[in-house]
Amino acid sequence: MLKESVKYERRRSTMVREQIESRGVTDSKVLAAFRKVPRHLFVSEALRDKAYGDFPLPIGEQQTISQPYIVAEMTQALHLSKEDRVLEIGTGSGYQAAILAEIAFRVYTIERIYTLFVKARKLFDRLHYHKILARYSDGTTGWKNESPFDAIIVTAGAPEIPESLVNQLEIGGRMVLPVGNKHTQDLIKLYKNENGIRTTNLGGCRFVKLVGEYGWREK
Ligand code: SAH
Repeated sequence: MLKESVKYERRRSTMVREQIESRGVTDSKVLAAFRKVPRHLFVSEALRDKAYGDFPLPIGEQQTISQPYIVAEMTQALHLSKEDRVLEIGTGSGYQAAILAEIAFRVYTIERIYTLFVKARKLFDRLHYHKILARYSDGTTGWKNESPFDAIIVTAGAPEIPESLVNQLEIGGRMVLPVGNKHTQDLIKLYKNENGIRTTNLGGCRFVKLVGEYGWREK
């Protein structure tokens, strides 16, 4: 029988070729990160064999780990270099944070659901992702003490661009986030310079809700 790690490594290279490169992601650092991070460890054991499929998967608490291609597109849009400090809102499984940690200098990630936060933090320890700092709180207010950030990624759908996060972005910084209603959103890429912000629409997407002070209000 093929060793588990070899089996999954092969699946990762197929995933990169067929789902990510084929759709136009070309950044070699991003592609290398996707070949390396063991996505199957970020889902429950029952879903492990589906981990490299071209779709999102449930991670508990009615939340999901995004489809690999979306994670790749968002990561590439951040134009990361190895000196960058990145803030992620919505740790979820921790997969996106691990991808970011393969490329950037440090990753700050915030999750508002305690069980997901604890699970992700344990996994970061187990996989030796010491570059990732995880925090349990409402990420829509950002992480003021560690700001400004070179890049910010929001992995849950916001009703509008949270001003609080724009304020914590460095001049020259990039932000990627889904913005729209509760069912569908547009993936927005934002660039901040001395004069303000410039946004580009990367196209339609579908994320779970960003819930918090500068997101959707809790019922
Ligand atoms: N990046 C994740 C995707 C998680 S889904 C991954 O790679 O698996 C979105 C996550 O955002 C959910 O876990 C949800 O609980 C979280 N979330 C929603 N609103 C939030 C908020 N205000 N602050 C922090 N996390 C939030």
